[in-house]
Amino acid sequence: MNERASAPTFEELFGRAPEVHATAPGRVNLMGEHTDYNDGYVLPTAIPQRTRVDLARRDDGTAQVWSADVESGPTPSRYVLGEEARGRGFLDYVQGVTRALREQGIVLPGFDARIASEVPVGAGLSSSAALSVALLRALRLAFGLPLDDVRIALLGQRAENDLVGAPVGVMDPMASSLATSGSALFLDTRSLAYEIVPIPAAIELVVIDSGVPHSHATGSYRARRAECARACALLGVASLRDLTLADLDRGAPALPELLLRRARHVLTENARVLAVVAALRSGDIAALPPLFAASHASMRDDFEVSVPAVDRLVALADAEPDVVGARLTGGGFGGAVVILVQRGRGGAVAARVAGAYEASSGVPPRVLVPVA
Ligand code: ADP
Ligand code: MG
Repeated sequence: MNERASAPTFEELFGRAPEVHATAPGRVNLMGEHTDYNDGYVLPTAIPQRTRVDLARRDDGTAQVWSADVESGPTPSRYVLGEEARGRGFLDYVQGVTRALREQGIVLPGFDARIASEVPVGAGLSSSAALSVALLRALRLAFGLPLDDVRIALLGQRAENDLVGAPVGVMDPMASSLATSGSALFLDTRSLAYEIVPIPAAIELVVIDSGVPHSHATGSYRARRAECARACALLGVASLRDLTLADLDRGAPALPELLLRRARHVLTENARVLAVVAALRSGDIAALPPLFAASHASMRDDFEVSVPAVDRLVALADAEPDVVGARLTGGGFGGAVVILVQRGRGGAVAARVAGAYEASSGVPPRVLVPVA
């Protein structure tokens, strides 16, 4: 972990050594955008950066927690287990986890925890899920909790939905709990059926943040969800997952043009997840470029969640000979681009694309993967 040298150790914070430690990675989505709240498919992979939790048990019903990434002083935050309450910043994620456990009948006697993360916080790489999954893993180890990896993911989602109040889907904690770097998690968000799909060794991952803040992201995200729900209502289905493209063609007269495009993105994006999974399974790298290009075009034109700066970043990546595919990743309205690159070329391609982007846009991008 790249921590500042002055950060206090667990021993300095709590006066004893930790008993266990656990880690969990951040994630980036390779394919399947805005499909999760439409009961569809997603294909995230783990990034190399991880969040680490060192932990020791207590028996006085309290939790004391310190994070190297948000705390400046040497004093941990403290709360009484069973008295979790919203409004304490990062501690809400920890409180969310212990409340979610309690709701499942798992009452903890107490713990001290120290958090330190390499996952950039708030950059769309799901530091929040990395935190809740790493904490749940550490608690599982320390107290011998009977939790499998799917249950850990669901508890992490519950923690964020309930105590933090963020309406996040199941993809982020499932990716953090089940994916590894070098493999993708093919997840059906309707049934939670999943498969780990190895990424061919000839490919490596690059993620570049456009530097464009998600200024209107929350309202626009809600608007997209509402548009998908409206399309379902007009077509008489519970979910866009219940439709095929042929159904959509037949139902088109019932839909305003805008809703038709929204629904078309979701249906074609689901199909692209299946196609990318098939290509990864068979090592058919040549099948990937048109799928990534079509996904980006669909987000730009049909779902309208891209912005010109992100389009430029994707175009610069696509102009590189070693790039296999590039597209906007995450909810959109700014944010990051995921790029698949011939192995061994990631660092050089990322530097060239980021340099050209900065020169043409004046906005400083940030190379998130590979780690410098
Ligand atoms: P993302 O998950 O995309 O990084 P979120 O806004 O969902 O962004 O989550 C970021 C929040 O999660 C932070 O503001 C903080 O409250 C919490 N968090 C994540 N990682 C850590 C960490 N290492 N230490 C403390 N809090 C963290
Ligand atoms: Mg998050």
